Amino acid sequence: MTKPPVIGLLGGGQLGRMLCEAAGPLGYEVIVLDAADCPTRQINAHPRHVTGSFKDPEKVRELARRCDVLTVEIEHVNTDVLEEVATRGVTDPETGDVRRVPVHPSWRTLRLVQDKFAQKEHFGARGVPIAQQVALGDDDVMVALRGASRELGFPFMVKARKGSYDGRGNFKVRGAGDLDAAAEALAGLPLYAEKFVPFVMELAVMVVRTEDDEGNLEGVYSYPVVETVHEDDVCKTVFMPPRRVDEAACAEARRVAEEVVKSLWGRGVFAVEMFLLQDGSIMVNEVAPRPHNSGHYTIEAVPYLSQYKAQLHAIMNFIPHQLRLEPRVSQAVMLNILGGARPESHDRLVDLARTSYTGDTDVYLHLYGKASKPGRKIGHITFTASEGVDITGTIAPFVDEVDQMRR
Ligand code: ATP
Ligand code: MG
Ligand code: MG
Repeated sequence: MTKPPVIGLLGGGQLGRMLCEAAGPLGYEVIVLDAADCPTRQINAHPRHVTGSFKDPEKVRELARRCDVLTVEIEHVNTDVLEEVATRGVTDPETGDVRRVPVHPSWRTLRLVQDKFAQKEHFGARGVPIAQQVALGDDDVMVALRGASRELGFPFMVKARKGSYDGRGNFKVRGAGDLDAAAEALAGLPLYAEKFVPFVMELAVMVVRTEDDEGNLEGVYSYPVVETVHEDDVCKTVFMPPRRVDEAACAEARRVAEEVVKSLWGRGVFAVEMFLLQDGSIMVNEVAPRPHNSGHYTIEAVPYLSQYKAQLHAIMNFIPHQLRLEPRVSQAVMLNILGGARPESHDRLVDLARTSYTGDTDVYLHLYGKASKPGRKIGHITFTASEGVDITGTIAPFVDEVDQMRR
């Protein structure tokens, strides 16, 4: 067998770490651009890692010189240098040879989704349902916000177009009295406003996308739909299947997610975050072109092709046609471990996960090797069970611990 290509990864957080956990047994080599002590490099020793920032163009070129294909675990990267290495190539300093390094997902996808407003305009123009939105010019924020409130009505969301995660960069405007606070909270950032969606539930679907070397779409393959529950804009729990949602709505969510991912570029896994409305219809919130928190459950629930294995195999173009992504368990719940008020706040929860054996629910602990800070994602626990098992009952003490930790 020929040696598999070396994968260069921008970003070394927990997503990269779980990607490397999947890569090991599959025999894929992953080299990482990030700090020397980042979560990914803690579990993957390799002489060709690049130490530095994935926002530094020279470091990205260095990584590209050392690998055969590039991928990302975060979308907030420099897409100009990714376009450069993919289209014009990198130069070998010794031989002077120029070599193009493919980037998956494509730099075009990364550039588009980095701007949440542009991303949704793109989907909306293709008939995908999105919340009504208006760009806010940067002349006079208050004038723009008043204009948006007339167009959208209260409440509405003001969002930073770029760079946000875990709701940082979002502000809910409940009435005219909130406009000053919104302008102040998001001062200096390019903004847009979005109608508030009175959703009954948030759903997410991971989709695998494949294409040939010329960039022609080959296929899209969706994982089961999950329900995502956010607290203070941060994902707290993920339920597979969603609770009390009928088959038709789940099928529609998968269909919409596949349509969305078809309209993007490159290979890999893509997370599609959606709102489920009262009438059973679906609206797209945003897309993350990479493995995602809402797909962690696939490690245990779809073990033959977790989202991490899918990312690796998709980059290599090893995804079989007619792939079906069906869970091997009837129920899964993922619970995030966020740093608590004190560095040791999560110790009891971790102990509980390490020592739990219920017989009918399996408990899988994942710690990311990150220092605990309040609200920071430092690990997660996945629970799986067969049909009829009261998984909600099993997880109750864990959820109680999570709620205690915040105090
Ligand atoms: P992520 O960490 O997922 O990248 P983000 O910072 O990009 O988050 P959004 O996904 O835009 O933020 O919003 C975070 C959460 O805020 C959503 O999951 C949802 O709960 C709520 N939210 C966002 N937009 C709306 C909206 N238009 N109407 C109602 N709720 C919203
Ligand atoms: Mg986002
Ligand atoms: Mg989001």
